[in-house]
Amino acid sequence: MPTIDKIPDGKGILVKVLKVGVDATDREINDALYGNPPPGDDFLVLGHESFGIVKEVGKNVRNIKVGDYVTATVRRPGGSIYDKIGTYDMTSEETYYERGINLLHGYLTEYFVDHEEYVVRVPKGLKNLHVLMEPMSCAAKAIHQAFEAQRRMKVWSPKRAFVLGAGQIGLLSTLVLRLKGLEVFTLARSAGPHLKSSIVEGMEANYIATSQTSLEQLAKKVGKADLIIDATGSSSIAFNAMEALGHNGALVWTSITGGKELTTVPSDKINIEWVLGNKLLVGSVNANREHFESGIKDLALGEVMFPGVLEKILTSPVNGLAGYKEMMRLLVEDNSALKVYVNVAEE
Ligand code: BGC
Ligand code: ZN
Repeated sequence: MPTIDKIPDGKGILVKVLKVGVDATDREINDALYGNPPPGDDFLVLGHESFGIVKEVGKNVRNIKVGDYVTATVRRPGGSIYDKIGTYDMTSEETYYERGINLLHGYLTEYFVDHEEYVVRVPKGLKNLHVLMEPMSCAAKAIHQAFEAQRRMKVWSPKRAFVLGAGQIGLLSTLVLRLKGLEVFTLARSAGPHLKSSIVEGMEANYIATSQTSLEQLAKKVGKADLIIDATGSSSIAFNAMEALGHNGALVWTSITGGKELTTVPSDKINIEWVLGNKLLVGSVNANREHFESGIKDLALGEVMFPGVLEKILTSPVNGLAGYKEMMRLLVEDNSALKVYVNVAEE
């Protein structure tokens, strides 16, 4: 059992893990395409989407108390200037440290301890959305990055967004953009009605099945987008998306693609369109504390605006840590599983 005295300055927090989510990154780690164990270990404890309850706090912890629900950030700082000011999601070092992904063990355990700085409180009223806090932080960061970068335009006020992919990041990005008042088109392969389309439509966004309407056709019909978020997990789609972005727009790539896919792209056409249209491509990874906090606010607002919709993402629970094989099976084989998570313990 980890103890809070492992953390310096009386800032340790002991968390009893209640639930842990898994995603495509865990699948890539399991396939040995991505991630690394901590030095000296020949295994990696998975789990970066955590939800738990605080059991003990160090004497200098101020903002979190025993009994609070919490999640935790994933990256831990390296040595760059970005790491030193709490923006470790923007580290400029090639080596990055991520719990459950790269060089640090994750949260798929019974208890963990961490420093107050990395533990984020989850409001009681969002308990039903538990493991969505971390994926939401990544969606919040991706969109925040676009808005930050687009300050270059001085008067950027995007009206139309395309979200590519209706997995968790696509759906949560749809939410953030809808709450900002954009008209959102969320694209995924299969024709609805089905769970994904009902979640998209439940957020008053438009579900587009690419098996019926391609991205190109959509752009012809409704116009190119001011903002595109790619969350498909497919690098070829990420590149194709470059042709659907309007003048002065921003395209954000969020997928981790550990494979070796090669794609042919119409590079002359894209090049000239991007130059003549002053277009911007931004990569976005991970999230820091601020993105967790803003994501949690958007989840709270989403619950009020679109009651009961977000919970529908949480499709596939597995009971107990002993269910790890079933967890991987659902993650790898079950196409209807939108979100696989482990019920690690009761409170
Ligand atoms: C995680 C991020 C992480 C990224 C790259 C994602 O699945 O949610 O926190 O930075 O993978 O490792
Ligand atoms: Zn993830």
